[in-house]
Amino acid sequence: MTRAQAPSPGVSISRRAAERIRAGHVWVYRSDVVDQTGVGPGAIAAVHGPRGQAGPGERGFLGTALYSSSSEIALRMISRGRVDNLEQLVRERIRDAIAYRERFVESTNAYRVIFSEGDFLPGLIVDRYNNVLSLQVLTQAMDSEEMRKVSISELRAALNPAAIVERVDRRVQRLERLPERASGVIWPAASSNRLLRDSGESGAAPAAHSGEAANPAATEIQMNGVRFLCDPLGGQKTGFFLDQRENYARAAHYARGQALDVFCYQGGFALHLARVCDKVTGVDSSRQALEIADQNAALNRKEVDWIEANAFDLLRDYSDAGRQYDLIVLDPPAFAKSKRDLPTALRGYKELNLRALKMLGKGGILVTCSCSYHTSASDLLETLHSAAQDSHRTVRILENRGAAKDHPSVAGIPETAYLKCLILLVS
Ligand code: SAH
Repeated sequence: MTRAQAPSPGVSISRRAAERIRAGHVWVYRSDVVDQTGVGPGAIAAVHGPRGQAGPGERGFLGTALYSSSSEIALRMISRGRVDNLEQLVRERIRDAIAYRERFVESTNAYRVIFSEGDFLPGLIVDRYNNVLSLQVLTQAMDSEEMRKVSISELRAALNPAAIVERVDRRVQRLERLPERASGVIWPAASSNRLLRDSGESGAAPAAHSGEAANPAATEIQMNGVRFLCDPLGGQKTGFFLDQRENYARAAHYARGQALDVFCYQGGFALHLARVCDKVTGVDSSRQALEIADQNAALNRKEVDWIEANAFDLLRDYSDAGRQYDLIVLDPPAFAKSKRDLPTALRGYKELNLRALKMLGKGGILVTCSCSYHTSASDLLETLHSAAQDSHRTVRILENRGAAKDHPSVAGIPETAYLKCLILLVS
């Protein structure tokens, strides 16, 4: 067969997977790939249902996907139609994502600019921290030289950042068999990094991060009028938990008196609460996170008691000692990393919520979160109900919330709705 006659790359998938795609989902697992022609790592591929099965429109044609040769998720749909020019499509999607933020993101200079499937750009995550952009590439297709160039040029043109850093997720790098790279500044090139520190306005590295070993990407962000130091190349996740931004403001809306922020990281909830409460205590097991939390408190001229402790031990001791609060935040890490962990995760959530409810009297507010996709909103509610019964409390739901709007969740892709945040009135 000559090159000119080679069939265009295509994949046919099982009936079950085809139904899932028709229902709006965008992933096809490797076990559902029944046949493939001419697809290599990161290729764009036409997706068909099983042979002989006619679908709507073209016979059995389901759309176009990005292929991974190694991930369990073999295909991620990028369009329901044919794609002749991926570069142009990706450019349009990036511009759409930026326009969405211009329309819906308020009161901050730190937000997620691109949220992978949530912005129909599977495998690409971009966060903005003031004038620094942080990029994370999670798939073979988005890691190609062309796509990296496209992403960087669109982001530069629209947002004019002082720097773009890349955060490499080692686990994903292994799973996707991406070329070895280290996290670091990817733009401007190393020789001109000096520019970052001289970039005027609020872009200068804050004092706490300056000095010989200064990270050139360190910056300061603000959300809802609260200031935070931010190191896009340090910290957990992509440097900062942006998804709770709107929930911080809602928690503060109900807060007064004495507040306890459990799993406080660098003080996101605690520093919002400190503006309205008489006393705020923040608890985390990471000393490093608490040191930054303390610098953040100083930056906002607020006093918060930071306690380095295991949250489970501390909540048990405090509730046994009969301590009382007006508001408690529980924002634990994802307990259920897979479906298998769910029963253990639910026991963890129950214990935390039970202890917190015991420390909240009539009129108290509980802000309880789960960032694990495998724990559904109804799992969390059921767990809460059971904790309320055991602690002889009644809870009413003031707000049933998710991630901030810059982490869009798409109907039909439940994985995009991973964060739950319930604000409850206790009696
Ligand atoms: N509320 C934070 C994000 C919390 S992320 C914010 O809005 O920014 C989860 C935090 O839990 C991390 O900071 C991690 O260090 C902490 N953590 C994990 N296990 C813990 C434990 N057993 N006890 C206390 N903190 C824990």
